Amino acid sequence: MLDDATAAADRLEAPDTQALNAVTAYDREILLAGARALEHAPPGPLTGLTVAVKDNICTLDYPTTCGSRVLEGYRSPFEATAVSRLKRAGALVACKANLDEFGMGSSTEWSAIGRTRHPIDPERVPGGSSGGPAALVAKGVVEAGLGSDTGGSVRQPAAFCGIVGAKPSYGSVSRFGLVAFASSLDQIGVLAPSVTVARRVHAAIGGPDPHDATSVDRPPPTAHGEHVELAQVRLGVPVEYWEQMLDAGVRRAVDACLGIMRARGANVADVSLPHTPLATPAYYVISSAEASSNLARFDGVRFGQRRGDGLDLARMYRETRGEGFGPEVRRRIITGTFVLSAGYRGRYYQRAAEVRQRIAQDFRRVFQEVDFVVTPTTPSPAFRAGERLGDPVAMYSSDRLVCAVNLAGLPAISIPAGRVSGLPVGVQLIGRPFADAAMYDVATVLEDALAEAGEFA
Ligand code: GLN
Repeated sequence: MLDDATAAADRLEAPDTQALNAVTAYDREILLAGARALEHAPPGPLTGLTVAVKDNICTLDYPTTCGSRVLEGYRSPFEATAVSRLKRAGALVACKANLDEFGMGSSTEWSAIGRTRHPIDPERVPGGSSGGPAALVAKGVVEAGLGSDTGGSVRQPAAFCGIVGAKPSYGSVSRFGLVAFASSLDQIGVLAPSVTVARRVHAAIGGPDPHDATSVDRPPPTAHGEHVELAQVRLGVPVEYWEQMLDAGVRRAVDACLGIMRARGANVADVSLPHTPLATPAYYVISSAEASSNLARFDGVRFGQRRGDGLDLARMYRETRGEGFGPEVRRRIITGTFVLSAGYRGRYYQRAAEVRQRIAQDFRRVFQEVDFVVTPTTPSPAFRAGERLGDPVAMYSSDRLVCAVNLAGLPAISIPAGRVSGLPVGVQLIGRPFADAAMYDVATVLEDALAEAGEFA
């Protein structure tokens, strides 16, 4: 146990890992003390598993900064339920990991400590906003990661980095201690090298929590799945997702996956989710509206950094928020405030809320005919650093295949589907609400089939 933790500490301190800029806080002594304590404890379902925790999830041992200057050095007085449950299961929190500020971004470039590098090509982005934990898992530095997925932030970086990213059904994992970005969409998710590990972590952290009124009173998926035959599974391929200007390589890789599933007897049919093109705009209106309200608490009074102390109250707020928040967070707060404002809320927020209902309805209709929907996770492989920073709409568009899932509260998982010019791409499986266990069962079969077919050669 101690040897494994020491090896993990060595990996975390290695120059290669440092070069990723994926870690926001780490302490060798804390990691080794945790491992020593485990040597005398009864074994748990995750004993010794090293986990990187995204830095918008509260921990007692480390600061929780959300990648923001506004929370520089901030220490939470309590721990997120997901973190307590990880520890109770015997896992070790190896470090806190980098993210786009408050989870707002798709590339882990919007962090106060600077960008995280892609694990294969340092000139590219690892995806975001959970790029820190994703890069660390992909490099084999830690064995799993906790991320948050508000509009794809676990699945998209998993696809870019070539690992598994699971987003549980809304309400399956407690959000207590996850710093809120958009509360009706946020969900803690898992980054892992395999479906099996993702499932074991979800099993340990999921289930109802009296501290989160939106957590649902259902047991989480079991740690070990059941074998399913693909011949018994009906898969739907939404035509609209293929119309979203997919990169030719991504298209080929995902088509190859579908071919493998058909060859294994899966029943694959075209389906239609007609409101798909409206998902991204609706997502950005709703998430920014909620963010503008959730982030109002960071005003220099109770949390983190205070600037302009001794000035009048309005100036203190202005200076704290103006200097503490980065450009993307400011853009979301301003957009969110605008779409909720008296003259415009009908035109923007309410319309986005209606679109959200239609998107959920589309999925309900399709799930009467098929068990899972299969799509590419991203329209392209990892893009170059800097490429989209000046163009928010281009940045947002990298989420256009993942954010509908959050609007509808569904479970979804991205698994590696081979490579395009050396860069990983992902295939996404979307399930009915609370079909998380069945989703892992099918994802496992798919993962095995892809490995056998040599997709990773
Ligand atoms: N990239 C999306 C955004 O910027 C999703 C973020 C997330 O899931 N936390 O809002």
